[in-house]
Amino acid sequence: MRLAVTDPGVPEIFHSLQGEGVSAGKPSVFVRLSQCNLHCVWCDTAYTWNFQDTEFQHRDDAPSAPRKYDRAQETVDRTVEELTAHLLALPCRRIIFTGGEPLLQQRELGELIQRLKEVDPSFYIEIETNGTIKPLGLAAELIDQFNVSPKLAHSGNDLAIRFKLETLRFYANDARANFKIVIETPSDLEEVKALVAEAGMPASRVWLMPEGRTPQELHQREHWLAEACLKAGYNFTGRLHIHLYGDTRGT
Ligand code: SF4
Repeated sequence: MRLAVTDPGVPEIFHSLQGEGVSAGKPSVFVRLSQCNLHCVWCDTAYTWNFQDTEFQHRDDAPSAPRKYDRAQETVDRTVEELTAHLLALPCRRIIFTGGEPLLQQRELGELIQRLKEVDPSFYIEIETNGTIKPLGLAAELIDQFNVSPKLAHSGNDLAIRFKLETLRFYANDARANFKIVIETPSDLEEVKALVAEAGMPASRVWLMPEGRTPQELHQREHWLAEACLKAGYNFTGRLHIHLYGDTRGT
């Protein structure tokens, strides 16, 4: 499987508190997989996809010097067997596969989860996905929780690649799925309302989260967004890890 790294050759696997959404505050082991099928302009893990041999745009790009990552330096491959051994040796059984888009590697992911649960059925597996890919096979069967984060227009992705109605409806009909939507401005709320209605997402399973990679950016959006959540009946989530650790890898 292809993973992101904290340092060259060192897979980004770390023990921390979940910072966002329904499991916020829970101790978890994060496994960051590389590669994404979307390219959000504000993505805080652009090192999983904004490689030198691509032409994607990101907010950090300067016009004359786009910030591109070296694919060989930013990725590392591990077998399912190696990852199984690595995760079994860690002290926490809540595993969160994140990315990038983890479901791009869902066949191997399903095998890995199966091996983990065979050894210790207490493993609880969450996955963070952008909601454009349906889980299949072992992944569909064995993942305990889907944290689905559909992207709005401000992400900079074309509608055709970021919005897959049938897939969102699939998740809306699966009680294991909850939705986390990144909000930049109050005008995004109309887009959220339409998205939630069209996909049939129950408001009780929708979390709205301010966009921001610094405590200051988050603070500017938290107050009006909290009020908007109260009014509309959605859940609110901050980004605990940014407040605790900043925008750094491995946290
Ligand atoms: S879907 Fe997630 S990982 Fe992919 S570009 Fe958007 S924010 Fe980044």
